[in-house]
Amino acid sequence: MMKFEDKFSLPLEWISDETKRIVESCREIVEKEIMPIRHELDEDWKDHKIYDKLLKIIMLDFGLQCAPWPKEYGGLESDLITACLCNEEMSRGDSGLSTAAGCINWTFMPMLAPTPNPILIEKFAPLACQTDKLFVGCAAITDARSGSDVENIDGTHGKYIATTAELDGDEWVINGHKLWPTNSGGLADIFAVFCTTNPGVEDDEAFAIIYVPADTPGVKQGEPYQKAGMSGDKNSDIWFDNVRVPKENRANPKPGDDAIAARMFMNAGNIGSSAHSIGIMRNCYELVKEWCGTREVGGKLLKEHSMTASILADIAMMIEVSRSDTYMKARMMTVPDVYGIDPTGVEFLAKTRANKLFVTDQMTILINKAMDLMGSHGYAREGHIEKHWRDSKMISLWMGGRGLAKLDIARWFYDCKSF
Ligand SMILES: Cc1cc2nc3c(=O)[nH]c(=O)nc-3n(C[C@H](O)[C@H](O)[C@H](O)COP(=O)(O)OP(=O)(O)OC[C@H]3O[C@@H](n4cnc5c(N)ncnc54)[C@H](O)[C@@H]3O)c2cc1C
Repeated sequence: MMKFEDKFSLPLEWISDETKRIVESCREIVEKEIMPIRHELDEDWKDHKIYDKLLKIIMLDFGLQCAPWPKEYGGLESDLITACLCNEEMSRGDSGLSTAAGCINWTFMPMLAPTPNPILIEKFAPLACQTDKLFVGCAAITDARSGSDVENIDGTHGKYIATTAELDGDEWVINGHKLWPTNSGGLADIFAVFCTTNPGVEDDEAFAIIYVPADTPGVKQGEPYQKAGMSGDKNSDIWFDNVRVPKENRANPKPGDDAIAARMFMNAGNIGSSAHSIGIMRNCYELVKEWCGTREVGGKLLKEHSMTASILADIAMMIEVSRSDTYMKARMMTVPDVYGIDPTGVEFLAKTRANKLFVTDQMTILINKAMDLMGSHGYAREGHIEKHWRDSKMISLWMGGRGLAKLDIARWFYDCKSF
């Protein structure tokens, strides 16, 4: 069994022995199953043959698929800190795989928190807590028209959401076209579809998250896109053409509550994105440490040149500070009363947006610094840094990118009215 440790600080008083054991096992799986085949994974973006096997190892054998669900259904009721630590470990190896795995559980969050929906939990927990079959979730947020507009809950209150849901008797009829959602491209078994029940109107009560099984008539997924990196994350178009699902499939039955759940979902997404980024940064640290500790330039080890030591110090500083703030935010979300915050409110959204924007910026700068130190070897596939370079950029672009993050931050801290 590997020891639960690495060089960077963690708030150990918030991490149970059970979590430590889980993270150690996760690290072992990454070392054994992912690290030796990282190059092959890049070429698997379309077929996903190796990735599907790895997803089964992570979600079923390791048990991540049942992590967020109630114990009475065979779930683990595991917390956000455990999820973040596992994200870090997986992203050390391959952030595409960690995105695919993380988004499976993220998809179900709106029916689980802040207000659990017993009807939907009863319906879907038995499928998600299976130990021999993947049940892949996909959070279908980004409209073909714009991704940011759907996520800009407090600026536009759903006014520009293009995907619609109309109630017809006891059924929702859904129409729309989504782009990009993680685990689309044929992988998903179920979508959490972000849509509006009142198109063109600013109204949080019209903001709806509706669960749609992928085999429902009228649902079509396109072919996966080829991207710069993140091959483990399959992305495609999804069309919803007069798709009918039961009325009960809305994440929260009371109008208005889906917008509240969406903010909490964004907070978890922001904190999780930072955890992915820290995993990547930690692996870059390991690679650069090895390189600078063995490569000689000008008659001495690279790390012994003062100009290199200065860059190495920057790299360590970026990880140390990024990690501290990320676990602070994870803790705030876990015990909000202690911090006097509402995990579904605009204040916490501004704070987690700030965390994600800061940490992803640090990651982008850090990877460039690491590549500078490694010269051509850093640019070559065998140096591994270039994989993180290609995979990582997307983390700062998703969830509305830098623009929406800044708007949410300025809106709460400065009372800016811009949207
Ligand atoms: C690997 C990967 C995984 C993804 N996973 C998912 C997923 O799981 N689910 C999903 O639904 N989507 C997913 N996406 C899509 C991604 O979240 C969106 O692309 C992203 O949110 C931005 O939306 P957009 O591309 O439509 O850009 P736009 O919304 O068109 O934004 C364009 C630019 O405008 C800025 N901007 C945003 N709001 C404003 C504003 N009010 N004023 C001025 N500027 C603004 C943005 O920051 C950005 O720079 C994924 C994409 C990739 C590549």
